[in-house]
Amino acid sequence: MRGALGGPRVLLRRLREVMAEPVSAQDRLDKVVVLIAANMVAEVCSVYVLRVDGTLELYATEGLNREAVHSTVMEADEGLVGLVASEATKINLSDAQNHPAYSFRPETGEEIYHSFLGVPILRAGNTLGVLVVQNRARRNYVEEEEEALQTTAMVLAEMIASGELSSIAKPGAEPAARHAIHIEGVSLSDGIALGHVVLHEPRVVITNVIADDVPKELKRLEAAIAALRADLDRLVEHRDVVDGGEHRDVLEAYRMFSYDQGWAHRIREAVTTGLTAEAGVERVQSDTRAKMLRASDPYLRDRLHDLDDLANRLMRVLMGQDHAPRKDQLPDNSIVVARSMGPAALLDYDRKKLRGLVLEEGGMTSHVSIVARALGIPTVGDIANATGLVEQGDAIIVDGSTGHVHMRPPQDIEAAFGERVKLRARRQAQYRAARDKPCITKDGNTIALMMNAGLTIDLPHVAETGASGIGLFRTELQFMVAPTLPRTGEQMQLYRTVLDAAGKKPVTFRTLDIGGDKVLPYLRNFEEENPALGWRAIRLGLDRPGLLRSQVRALLRAGGGREIRVMFPMIATVEEFDQAKALVEVELTHLRRHGHSLPERVHIGTMLEVPSLLFQLDELLERVDFLSVGSNDLMQFLYAADRGNTRVSQRFDPLSAPVLRALKEIADKAAKHGKPVALCGELASQPLGALALAIIGYRSMSLSPSSVGPVKAMLLQLDCQKGADALLPALAQPVGSVSIRQTLEDFATAEGLPL
Ligand code: PEP
Ligand code: MG
Repeated sequence: MRGALGGPRVLLRRLREVMAEPVSAQDRLDKVVVLIAANMVAEVCSVYVLRVDGTLELYATEGLNREAVHSTVMEADEGLVGLVASEATKINLSDAQNHPAYSFRPETGEEIYHSFLGVPILRAGNTLGVLVVQNRARRNYVEEEEEALQTTAMVLAEMIASGELSSIAKPGAEPAARHAIHIEGVSLSDGIALGHVVLHEPRVVITNVIADDVPKELKRLEAAIAALRADLDRLVEHRDVVDGGEHRDVLEAYRMFSYDQGWAHRIREAVTTGLTAEAGVERVQSDTRAKMLRASDPYLRDRLHDLDDLANRLMRVLMGQDHAPRKDQLPDNSIVVARSMGPAALLDYDRKKLRGLVLEEGGMTSHVSIVARALGIPTVGDIANATGLVEQGDAIIVDGSTGHVHMRPPQDIEAAFGERVKLRARRQAQYRAARDKPCITKDGNTIALMMNAGLTIDLPHVAETGASGIGLFRTELQFMVAPTLPRTGEQMQLYRTVLDAAGKKPVTFRTLDIGGDKVLPYLRNFEEENPALGWRAIRLGLDRPGLLRSQVRALLRAGGGREIRVMFPMIATVEEFDQAKALVEVELTHLRRHGHSLPERVHIGTMLEVPSLLFQLDELLERVDFLSVGSNDLMQFLYAADRGNTRVSQRFDPLSAPVLRALKEIADKAAKHGKPVALCGELASQPLGALALAIIGYRSMSLSPSSVGPVKAMLLQLDCQKGADALLPALAQPVGSVSIRQTLEDFATAEGLPL
């Protein structure tokens, strides 16, 4: 390296010695800046640390006025240092004073320096501070010097992240790293949980940053890259293999990146400056993450996500072990933090230990949210970079009732939440006390509050909540948790258990709704451009009837001697309903012929979740025994907004004129035909949604178990007629603002309804 004393490797070796010395944090920082300045032949070397209040404080300097240390504090976007921090990118200028962002603080005496090289101090993509060198001469820092400074910044990142600097920080202005963070996301499943972070895909924590023997580290890196490529080649070529839920196209992308010379080259370069192979990977990964957090183009962000995952894989190869914690060996009070997760992955966790879930993605009606609600796991989604902000084992609070997450909460917050948990428990006790009370509105309408379920774990909730039955039993969940395709006998056993648990209360079984994001690991997955619109649910059932027939047989046999209710998902035309119904009749005939005990009565109905049925209502209602509206899918198809994609899933409000008009039309037509109609999507689980539904004529709803109590409390206070007087004129008006939410909220407030 030009002009440097001994180059970056010598610098790193010296830094390691300084890191090991038993000196105070300030002394250590002071020594570090002297070392860097000497090694890089710079007149100035300064460390700025990002504080909790978002400002940057000068923590150490060689070359600037010493009095400025701990007294110079800059806004996060102030001057060149601020620019390095906010953009998380290096700035290299031979004539800094001519840069538009240049500003200087007189107390530092920095106006005499012309050249400037600043790099962000990054960890997991988060800026922790800025490291700067400056010279009087208009000097061009070469690429090797940039590299060396970035490598050095990694060592500082470790020091800041360790919390060592807190001892020299002013109270209230501590370093942002490792400090309490409070973020508001989207509430996906109600409830409050206090616990400790378990990363779903843990970052590997590296303990050794500086290499003893660089050629050896380079060799380790080459071997790991070769092993990674071979592994990916094998996975991609095995068409049917699904690796940890990843699809083949994702693996293809990984493979492509793993052969990308630029990526491997950047890691190699980082190692050449004196890092261990792991630290080299982490440095490049941290840069990728920083870019990812700032990328607004979703395509680019996804590709950067892929690169981030690839770095994780490479890290695991290097460490020679799989770092994912065994899901059946979770610590107590685990709060799982994940970028995204499929429903099957969530079901893999030990329910007794899992307290809460935090996701970077995931919409309200995504299936992982549905499973989380079914399991009663408080969940918050849409927390950007959640996985980068916490470390394994950090204390964390998930407030699924408001969508807030507190990472490393201060004691007073923890105490306040402890109180809220107790308060909620008291409210739950009140709901339990009202569970046997019939749900009749003030003006005398009886409303059946049913419950959604899918696993045996849900069954005790029927009695606990006082639900009038199971309005939607999602049969696919059994298939999703099983390692292999459940046999007819196993299915029958489950359905019997469900019917037994429900006793006299009705259960509506929905036939398999797989496809879309409900992936069965043991079934061959077909790649589809738009899986939500693809070959899923009843489409698959009718085209490959073997699976559906065996399920229908299991249902009919389980229902021997009692009434049974079967409904089909994703029906789009009356012909599809006719075909599915015919299939049930064939199975009934078959069972009769073989002398099996038959159900006393089979009610056959359908989900209404594809908008095409809105225009076949009369024909459909003549055929079905009952209808159940799937508002989750109906909403995504009506507004053409992917329910699992948070960028669009919150964009449209189901409590809006277009949706409520459609729902009212369904209820009116069903009443005209004398056919029962219910709604089993998430809309009914929110008291305000249930309020709208009761007003427009729904007398049966199926909810998440935890919503039965609050929704009943609201309905007991409701006068439907008064509600209709307030809501229907707003629905009939020419649409100015499509949202009806405010109208409903105003009505609820005026009536004193508990929401
Ligand atoms: C729905 O679409 O509203 C529904 C209840 O089904 P699922 O959420 O399982 O797709
Ligand atoms: Mg659906």
